[in-house]
Amino acid sequence: MRISVIGCGHLGIPHAAAMAELGHEVIGVDVDQAKVDRLNAGECPIFEVGLPELLARHTESGRLRFTTDLREAATFAELHFIGVGTPIDADGRSYDTGQVYGAIRQLAPHLNRPCTIVGKSTVTVGTTRRVTALAQSLAPAGEDVDVVWNPEFLREGHAVEDTLRPDRLIAGLTTASAEKAIRDVYAPILDAGVPLFVTDPQTAELAKGAANTFLGLKISYINAVADMCDAADADISQIVDILGIDPRIGSGGMQPGIGYGGGCLPKDIRAFTASAGQLGAAAAATLLRAAERINEARTGVAMDLITRALGDQPVQGARVTVWGAAFKPGTNDVRESPALALAHVLQEAGGVVTVHDPQAVATAMIRNPELDYSDDLPASLDGADVVVLATEWPEYQQVDPHTLVDRPGTPLLVDCRTTLNAESWRAAGWTVHQLGRPGK
Ligand code: NAD
Repeated sequence: MRISVIGCGHLGIPHAAAMAELGHEVIGVDVDQAKVDRLNAGECPIFEVGLPELLARHTESGRLRFTTDLREAATFAELHFIGVGTPIDADGRSYDTGQVYGAIRQLAPHLNRPCTIVGKSTVTVGTTRRVTALAQSLAPAGEDVDVVWNPEFLREGHAVEDTLRPDRLIAGLTTASAEKAIRDVYAPILDAGVPLFVTDPQTAELAKGAANTFLGLKISYINAVADMCDAADADISQIVDILGIDPRIGSGGMQPGIGYGGGCLPKDIRAFTASAGQLGAAAAATLLRAAERINEARTGVAMDLITRALGDQPVQGARVTVWGAAFKPGTNDVRESPALALAHVLQEAGGVVTVHDPQAVATAMIRNPELDYSDDLPASLDGADVVVLATEWPEYQQVDPHTLVDRPGTPLLVDCRTTLNAESWRAAGWTVHQLGRPGK
């Protein structure tokens, strides 16, 4: 099929490349000319495993190209994916869907023949209905423009894999022609056995929010239990193993730490909580608000742990190396990153902070220019009074602690993600404090 992907960010670039990989002819559209130029040159502006190779292959083959011109996309494609951003609104509690309506307003007047608009951006319940009315009123093709909501569940850091081999596909739609378009565009994925849930639009919209809020609840729950472990001198790692082996619970998303972040979970939980309130589901809103409060308190919990680890030495004036800037490993995305929030609070408290990250230093410098950065892992430790692990990159687990004890500085480590093998670090002469674990 000939398709367009409108909005080339963390969702849109992997989606465009993956659709080309499925055999479609793809045009990606973004308003950012510099980004479009880089993409057309086969350069990948985000860090995602496997994405640079996929982009290069399909830009070279000519099956994938990028433009800023929505008229060109409208003329070229019979199906248009919408993957523009839906950041949180100025009120802090609902989605700003301005980019979605903006894209529809610019695209629809050029839709002269039957086609399908497939929304992938995460939106508030009721958006598909409003987008359908707007698109059909502006398009010369009128009611021959179908609108489907097809929420995206990819995990950043696994975007290519999750787009080509998702757990499930969801299509919220109202017409047989829309269902046919979805079955056609995803045919290779469906043929491979991936289940497709065909629902009404409002069910698809709510399913996305319900999935992300459930993940957030799980993270906040295990963090709350980690706090109980700290108070009782119990071991959260063992509790995670014991809970996770129960298939009704499962171990996914049960890593205790400094909380969830990124471009999705925080805003999706805020917006879903607000929707629960607006829909009169007060109990749901209370439950979700509690999960948010637990998450908001994580920086404070980490600061307490660092303060205890430093003992008599105040944070004021202490040289602190923070390992990690990305909101999670596998991505250079620093939106609402708990690691950067912690680094910022440490600096506000008078700490002399250096942040290391294997991939996200460049993006972090843009978002938090007040911090100092290093992309050399061993050098990032020189002179540090304390090392704080804030993002659980595998690179940190692979460090041999023996090689680091002879450098200048104190071998004191605070593992805020409960991810390192504390025994081997202690055996190498380090003092190790881990969130939710005994032995501090
Ligand atoms: P992003 O900010 O990385 O990318 C959005 C892109 O849309 C930007 O490049 C922007 O320039 C472009 N854009 C804005 N208006 C446009 C217009 N009128 N025409 C063309 N391009 C336009 O955002 P993202 O992280 O890719 O998220 C996009 C949507 O997908 C959001 O609704 C998000 O909640 C949802 N989502 C994201 C992920 C993820 O892993 N990032 C996962 C699932 C769902």
